[in-house]
Amino acid sequence: AISVVNVSKSFGQTEVLHDISLDIPAGQVSCLIGPSGSGKSTLLRCIAFLEETTSGRILIEGQPLGFSEQDSGYRARQSRAQTRAVRANIGMVFQQFNLWPHMTALGNVSAALKVVRKLPKAEAEARAMAQLTKVGLAERAHHYPSQLSGGQQQRVAIARALALEPKIMLFDEPTSALDPELTGEVLTVMRTLAAEGMTMVVVTHEIGFAASVGTQINFLDQGRLLFSGPPEEVFRKPRPQRLEQFLDTYI
Ligand code: ATP
Ligand code: MG
Repeated sequence: AISVVNVSKSFGQTEVLHDISLDIPAGQVSCLIGPSGSGKSTLLRCIAFLEETTSGRILIEGQPLGFSEQDSGYRARQSRAQTRAVRANIGMVFQQFNLWPHMTALGNVSAALKVVRKLPKAEAEARAMAQLTKVGLAERAHHYPSQLSGGQQQRVAIARALALEPKIMLFDEPTSALDPELTGEVLTVMRTLAAEGMTMVVVTHEIGFAASVGTQINFLDQGRLLFSGPPEEVFRKPRPQRLEQFLDTYI
C-alpha cells in the first residue's frame, strides 16, 4: 500500500506537484494519466524516492519514506539504511529498459541477486530463470539485449525488477518506446501481475489498458490531481472539460 499525503515538489522556484494526496491500497492497479508535463513521472519518482518531495509525506507499506514522521512541519531525514529498507518494497520499470548491454538476459536479472542480495550464483540464477519463465522468456535467457526485440527487452526489465520480490511495482510509460505491435506482450505481462494481486502504479498513455486493468484512475493536470477514482467513475460521460480535452487527444 502507498499513501501520498499533501505532497508538493519544486524544482528550484518552480512547483511542479501541488499538494497531492492519494491512497493506493494493496492490490490496486493505480494508473496515472494526464498531459505531457503534468507531473506524472515526477510523482512516480517521488514514490520511488528517486526525487525528494519538497513537503508532505509518503508512506510505503505504512512506513515513512525518506523522512521520518513530521511534527510541526519539521522533517528529519532517515538514515540510509532505513531509506534502503523502505525502498526495498519497490520495483521500477522505465520507458527505456536500461539493460546492461554486456550481460545476457539471465545476467541482467540475476546481477542484483548476486551483488545486492549476495545469493550464491546457482540460487541467483535459478530465481532469475523463474522470473524469465514467468515473462515468457525462458528460451531467451542466454541472449544479449541487442539480440532481443524491444518488447522482449522490456520483459527482461520487468523480470529483473520482480526478481527482488518487491511488494509494489512502478511503471513509467513501459510501452511508449515500443513499436505498436510489441506493446501487447508487455501489457499482457502487466495484466498477469495485476491478476496476481501485485500493487502497481502505472504512468500510461494506453487508455484502453487503464480502463480495463486499472482499478484506480488518477488524472494529473499542471501538477494537480484533478480526479481520482475507479475507471467507471472517471471515464463516465459527461466528463469534466479538462479530462474530455485530454481524452480527445489520446483516443
Ligand atoms: P510526460 O508525459 O511528457 O512524460 P510528465 O507528466 O511525466 O510528462 P514530468 O516529467 O513529471 O511530467 O514533469 C513535470 C514538470 O516538471 C515539467 O514542467 C518538467 O519540465 C519539470 N521537471 C521535471 N523534471 C525536472 C528536473 N529534474 N528539473 C527541473 N524541472 C523538471
Ligand atoms: Mg513522464
